[in-house]
Amino acid sequence: MHNDNSEYKLIVILEIPKEKRVRCQYKGCLHPIYKQIHIIRYESGEISCIGSKCYSLLRESHPVTAATAPLLGDRSSVRLTEEEISLLASNTEELIKRFSSAPELNEIKHYKAGSSQLRNDKALKARALELTRQKFMTKGIDPDLPGWKGWFERETKELYEQLKKSQ
Ligand SMILES: [Zn+2]
Repeated sequence: MHNDNSEYKLIVILEIPKEKRVRCQYKGCLHPIYKQIHIIRYESGEISCIGSKCYSLLRESHPVTAATAPLLGDRSSVRLTEEEISLLASNTEELIKRFSSAPELNEIKHYKAGSSQLRNDKALKARALELTRQKFMTKGIDPDLPGWKGWFERETKELYEQLKKSQ
Protein backbone atom coordinates (compact mmCIF):
# COMPACT_ATOMS: atom_id res chain seq x y z
CA MET A 1 0.00 0.00 0.00
CA HIS A 2 1.01 3.60 -0.51
CA ASN A 3 1.49 6.08 2.25
CA ASP A 4 0.91 9.81 2.40
CA ASN A 5 4.36 10.62 1.09
CA SER A 6 4.48 8.40 -1.95
CA GLU A 7 4.78 10.13 -5.31
CA TYR A 8 2.19 9.56 -8.00
CA LYS A 9 1.55 10.29 -11.66
CA LEU A 10 -1.79 11.27 -13.15
CA ILE A 11 -2.37 8.84 -16.02
CA VAL A 12 -5.70 9.79 -17.51
CA ILE A 13 -9.06 11.39 -16.70
CA LEU A 14 -12.18 9.46 -17.68
CA GLU A 15 -15.92 9.71 -17.43
CA ILE A 16 -18.43 6.86 -17.39
CA PRO A 17 -22.25 6.73 -17.29
CA LYS A 18 -23.73 7.33 -13.85
CA GLU A 19 -25.27 3.87 -13.67
CA LYS A 20 -21.80 2.33 -14.11
CA ARG A 21 -20.22 4.36 -11.33
CA VAL A 22 -17.25 3.00 -9.42
CA ARG A 23 -15.89 3.65 -5.94
CA CYS A 24 -13.27 6.27 -5.20
CA GLN A 25 -10.17 4.48 -3.97
CA TYR A 26 -8.59 7.38 -2.12
CA LYS A 27 -7.85 6.56 1.52
CA GLY A 28 -11.02 4.59 2.10
CA CYS A 29 -13.25 7.33 0.65
CA LEU A 30 -15.44 4.81 -1.25
CA HIS A 31 -17.60 7.60 -2.60
CA PRO A 32 -19.34 6.63 -5.89
CA ILE A 33 -17.67 8.42 -8.82
CA TYR A 34 -18.40 8.61 -12.55
CA LYS A 35 -17.42 12.11 -13.66
CA GLN A 36 -13.79 13.23 -13.83
CA ILE A 37 -12.39 9.92 -12.65
CA HIS A 38 -8.69 10.51 -12.11
CA ILE A 39 -6.57 7.42 -12.65
CA ILE A 40 -3.25 7.73 -10.92
CA ARG A 41 -0.26 5.48 -10.40
CA TYR A 42 1.75 5.62 -7.20
CA GLU A 43 5.49 5.05 -7.35
CA SER A 44 4.84 1.60 -5.85
CA GLY A 45 3.09 0.78 -9.15
CA GLU A 46 -0.31 0.66 -7.51
CA ILE A 47 -3.10 2.20 -9.59
CA SER A 48 -6.00 4.12 -8.05
CA CYS A 49 -9.20 5.58 -9.47
CA ILE A 50 -10.14 8.64 -7.49
CA GLY A 51 -12.73 11.37 -7.78
CA SER A 52 -11.96 14.99 -8.53
CA LYS A 53 -12.49 16.16 -4.94
CA CYS A 54 -10.10 13.58 -3.58
CA TYR A 55 -7.68 14.39 -6.38
CA SER A 56 -7.62 17.99 -5.14
CA LEU A 57 -6.81 16.71 -1.65
CA LEU A 58 -4.02 14.56 -3.07
CA ARG A 59 -2.60 17.51 -4.99
CA GLU A 60 -2.60 19.64 -1.89
CA SER A 61 -0.64 17.00 -0.02
CA HIS A 62 1.86 16.63 -2.91
CA PRO A 63 2.86 20.16 -3.96
CA VAL A 64 5.86 18.85 -5.93
CA THR A 65 3.93 16.65 -8.33
CA ALA A 66 0.83 18.82 -8.23
CA ALA A 67 0.74 20.53 -11.59
CA THR A 68 1.11 17.66 -14.03
CA ALA A 69 -1.19 17.09 -16.99
CA PRO A 70 -2.49 13.54 -17.42
CA LEU A 71 0.03 11.38 -19.33
CA LEU A 72 -2.63 9.95 -21.62
CA GLY A 73 -4.77 13.05 -21.69
CA ASP A 74 -8.15 14.10 -20.42
CA ARG A 75 -10.54 11.66 -22.04
CA SER A 76 -13.59 12.63 -20.04
CA SER A 77 -15.37 13.75 -23.23
CA VAL A 78 -14.80 10.38 -24.93
CA ARG A 79 -17.46 7.73 -24.61
CA LEU A 80 -15.94 4.45 -23.42
CA THR A 81 -17.09 1.12 -24.81
CA GLU A 82 -18.93 -1.33 -22.53
CA GLU A 83 -15.78 -3.42 -22.44
CA GLU A 84 -13.62 -0.48 -21.42
CA ILE A 85 -16.06 0.44 -18.66
CA SER A 86 -15.97 -3.07 -17.22
CA LEU A 87 -12.17 -3.06 -17.46
CA LEU A 88 -12.08 0.14 -15.45
CA ALA A 89 -13.64 -1.71 -12.53
CA SER A 90 -11.99 -5.11 -13.03
CA ASN A 91 -8.58 -4.46 -14.60
CA THR A 92 -7.56 -0.81 -14.74
CA GLU A 93 -4.00 -1.79 -15.67
CA GLU A 94 -5.22 -3.44 -18.88
CA LEU A 95 -7.41 -0.44 -19.70
CA ILE A 96 -4.42 1.89 -19.42
CA LYS A 97 -2.38 -0.45 -21.61
CA ARG A 98 -5.04 -0.18 -24.30
CA PHE A 99 -5.05 3.59 -24.16
CA SER A 100 -1.31 3.75 -24.57
CA SER A 101 -0.89 1.08 -27.24
CA ALA A 102 0.65 1.98 -30.60
CA PRO A 103 -1.47 2.26 -33.75
CA GLU A 104 -2.50 -1.16 -35.00
CA LEU A 105 -0.47 -2.47 -37.90
CA ASN A 106 -3.38 -4.37 -39.41
CA GLU A 107 -4.42 -1.10 -41.00
CA ILE A 108 -1.25 -1.28 -43.08
CA LYS A 109 -1.83 -4.91 -44.05
CA HIS A 110 -5.35 -3.99 -45.05
CA TYR A 111 -3.99 -1.16 -47.13
CA LYS A 112 -1.35 -3.31 -48.82
CA ALA A 113 -3.92 -5.82 -49.98
CA GLY A 114 -5.61 -3.21 -52.14
CA SER A 115 -2.70 -0.92 -52.84
CA SER A 116 -2.30 -1.15 -56.61
CA GLN A 117 -4.46 1.85 -57.37
CA LEU A 118 -2.89 3.98 -54.65
CA ARG A 119 0.59 4.66 -55.97
CA ASN A 120 1.10 8.33 -55.64
CA ASP A 121 1.80 10.37 -52.56
CA LYS A 122 -1.47 12.24 -52.65
CA ALA A 123 -3.43 9.01 -52.54
CA LEU A 124 -1.28 7.79 -49.64
CA LYS A 125 -2.02 10.93 -47.68
CA ALA A 126 -5.73 10.65 -48.37
CA ARG A 127 -5.65 7.00 -47.31
CA ALA A 128 -3.83 7.81 -44.07
CA LEU A 129 -6.35 10.54 -43.35
CA GLU A 130 -9.29 8.24 -44.01
CA LEU A 131 -7.94 5.35 -41.90
CA THR A 132 -7.03 7.62 -38.99
CA ARG A 133 -10.44 9.27 -39.11
CA GLN A 134 -12.12 5.86 -39.06
CA LYS A 135 -9.99 4.82 -36.09
CA PHE A 136 -10.93 7.94 -34.13
CA MET A 137 -14.63 7.57 -34.93
CA THR A 138 -14.54 3.94 -33.78
CA LYS A 139 -13.25 5.17 -30.44
CA GLY A 140 -16.06 7.72 -30.25
CA ILE A 141 -13.74 10.69 -30.85
CA ASP A 142 -14.62 13.48 -33.26
CA PRO A 143 -11.21 14.39 -34.75
CA ASP A 144 -12.51 17.78 -35.87
CA LEU A 145 -12.99 18.99 -32.32
CA PRO A 146 -10.21 21.40 -31.29
CA GLY A 147 -9.00 19.22 -28.41
CA TRP A 148 -8.24 16.30 -30.72
CA LYS A 149 -6.98 18.04 -33.83
CA GLY A 150 -3.30 17.99 -32.92
CA TRP A 151 -3.40 14.32 -31.95
CA PHE A 152 -5.36 13.47 -35.09
CA GLU A 153 -2.86 15.23 -37.34
CA ARG A 154 0.06 13.57 -35.58
CA GLU A 155 -1.45 10.08 -35.98
CA THR A 156 -2.31 10.75 -39.62
CA LYS A 157 1.27 11.80 -40.31
CA GLU A 158 2.67 8.72 -38.53
CA LEU A 159 0.40 6.40 -40.46
CA TYR A 160 1.27 8.13 -43.73
CA GLU A 161 4.98 7.58 -43.07
CA GLN A 162 4.36 3.94 -42.20
CA LEU A 163 2.36 3.45 -45.39
CA LYS A 164 5.11 5.06 -47.41
CA LYS A 165 7.71 2.74 -45.90
CA SER A 166 5.57 -0.30 -46.56
CA GLN A 167 5.40 0.50 -50.31
ZN1 LIG B 1 -12.94 10.14 -2.91
